Amino acid sequence: MSRKDPPGTTSRPTVLIVGAGLGGCVVAHALADTHDVTVVELGVLVSDMQARLKDIGVPARLDPHVGAGPGGTTALWHNGLIEVSESVFDECWPFPKSEMAPWYDEAYRLLGGVERFLVEDAGAALRGKFREAGLAADQMPTMFIPARRRNLWETLSLRDRVRFVRGEVTRLEVDGGNRVRQAVVATENGEQRLQADLFVLAAVGLGTPVLLQALADEVPLPALRLAGCFYEDHPMAFVGLVTLRVPLYRFWNYRVPRAGGSLRMPLVVHHDGLQVSFQLRPAVKEGQREKVATMITQLRNNPLNLLNYFRVLRHPDDLLDILSYRFGIRLPTRHYSLLMVAEQPRTPERSVSSEVDPVSAQRWITRNWQLSAAYLSTLRNAITGFIAGLGNIVISSRVFANWDQSLDTAAHHSGTARMSASASDGVCDRNARVHGMQNLFVADGSLLPGTGIANTGLTIAAAALRLGHHLKAGQGD
Ligand SMILES: Cc1cc2nc3c(=O)[nH]c(=O)nc-3n(C[C@H](O)[C@H](O)[C@H](O)COP(=O)(O)OP(=O)(O)OC[C@H]3O[C@@H](n4cnc5c(N)ncnc54)[C@H](O)[C@@H]3O)c2cc1C
Repeated sequence: MSRKDPPGTTSRPTVLIVGAGLGGCVVAHALADTHDVTVVELGVLVSDMQARLKDIGVPARLDPHVGAGPGGTTALWHNGLIEVSESVFDECWPFPKSEMAPWYDEAYRLLGGVERFLVEDAGAALRGKFREAGLAADQMPTMFIPARRRNLWETLSLRDRVRFVRGEVTRLEVDGGNRVRQAVVATENGEQRLQADLFVLAAVGLGTPVLLQALADEVPLPALRLAGCFYEDHPMAFVGLVTLRVPLYRFWNYRVPRAGGSLRMPLVVHHDGLQVSFQLRPAVKEGQREKVATMITQLRNNPLNLLNYFRVLRHPDDLLDILSYRFGIRLPTRHYSLLMVAEQPRTPERSVSSEVDPVSAQRWITRNWQLSAAYLSTLRNAITGFIAGLGNIVISSRVFANWDQSLDTAAHHSGTARMSASASDGVCDRNARVHGMQNLFVADGSLLPGTGIANTGLTIAAAALRLGHHLKAGQGD
């Protein structure tokens, strides 16, 4: 523990947060001044959460695709901030987007150091430039990327504001009234039991459902049986190349005045009721290449590996990207790669669960990620439809023959303890409390009932701030 007061020795309500990742950090921040906050985190190494996972469906190519340690996956992320669209709120959420507006405002400040209206103003200007250049789409949301990415544990200075326990929560123990009494934590000094008034699960969309499934063995609530269902990720891949008559390269990593960051503009089309987005990333002409590879994630996450700086020289598209993002230098090109990020249908099957190896007794979290043939066919139509929709600004275009084999996780593990109006349709109520439990809440990606094509980070933070507000107002009692 990093603070002197042992838990429960102050008169403030006690809250135990499981997971020091994005959602956990934001709730800890929201409650640190009014509550006695303890955060339990399993990770020593950033790969510790992924080491507990087994992909039994489509494998993730991104490695690691989930983080651990203080900051959780914000130690690895790109910090791209994008809002879930109003239509997705109307379709999937138990409340309208307007209820999230103040929390989105605050989330932009915490995660991006930016006022939301600056992003909106710059987005409107950029949308105008895209339209002038002859581009249209069903929706053109903005993705704001701050100049420096934030590991939230560090930027929110949580080390000095909350107690930190290194350990893995293995189960929750309840009293007779559907009230969690304590969390059982495996630490290097053996098993501990930590008590609190309130418990918040923020163990990512892969860790939280597994804890809820274990709880279902003790508390027979219908909502708990849905933990691990409705999993959502965003399949993504570079799917082709286009050559255009218009100088779109000028708008890539578009600077946002007074904001210390830049914008990208995904172009969203709808196919078979799903959103599919495309970003036109400036590229060099490279003959008949059949795929686009990027080193940016590896470079960002391993800055001390000097070999990566040499390797990036073999990825000229990355060099164009780095020049525009870091230095505002945009080299003219007519070539663009098509980065597709797609909405995934949410199905009631259980995609995330736990499994114990009978020989080694090792406990795994399994992720069964499925991309059906019908879904791939929808994506294929979306790609060809999108290129056709570009019309006469296209000089030439090519869809990669094996684009579907390079589909990768976007690491947006969500939906597995989703909010819903009724306990028969989701795990948490509209205030992020597990349906039927008195003092158990969720604050990570698993809470999100639907995201369209939006990266999840901004919305996780907004929902966690909203939960913090409810708990401060005493609505967790
Ligand atoms: C390379 C990469 C780039 C990304 N880029 C973006 C981006 O640009 N924009 C965006 O919005 N998102 C991005 N993401 C995704 C984003 O980082 C995640 O969606 C977000 O961090 C998820 O937040 P969370 O609170 O759900 O979980 P996490 O941040 O993953 O935190 C969960 C924490 O819980 C801990 N934990 C799990 N189980 C237990 C347990 N039983 N006991 C104790 N601790 C436990 C884990 O170790 C982890 O630290 C990216 C992800 C990756 C990998």
